[in-house]
Amino acid sequence: MSPGDILLVNARSIAGARVEVRVRDGVIAALGPALEPHGETIVDAAGDLLLPALVDSHMHLDKTLYGLPWQPHAAAANRRSRIETEKTQRASLAQPVAVRAGNLIERIVAQGTLHCRTHVDVDPGWGLKTWTACWRRKNAIATQYRSRSWRSRKAASSLAPEPWR
Ligand SMILES: [Zn+2]
Repeated sequence: MSPGDILLVNARSIAGARVEVRVRDGVIAALGPALEPHGETIVDAAGDLLLPALVDSHMHLDKTLYGLPWQPHAAAANRRSRIETEKTQRASLAQPVAVRAGNLIERIVAQGTLHCRTHVDVDPGWGLKTWTACWRRKNAIATQYRSRSWRSRKAASSLAPEPWR
């Protein structure tokens, strides 16, 4: 038994049935309508819906401005203008892509998304730098999440990201 072990009680399945979940070492160890407590911390879901992890199948981690002040739309209505405006904007952002991507990853994880597919620009100007920064940041966060109990996962943002934009 570790300190982060829980027994989630009074949850509801999609079909409406009562469901309980035993979590040991961050992993679901048992699932059923009525589990016996074994000394875990009991968490009352108060009838909330129990869902599997969410999936976001279309993201652009390299383009997020999450964590920065709001920025107005500045491009014209054609693709070329949007691409050029974005390149200019990204070169002068206050936070590098690894920080912004990490901000977004941590936000979606906090909201229940554990799988995502992202597009990342690879072009003659950026080369693979943004892809590499996003990949390494994702791996660093995943490694930190795996090594911590569920109670202390909010500290994942303490990793130092790479300085690429
Ligand atoms: Zn897209």
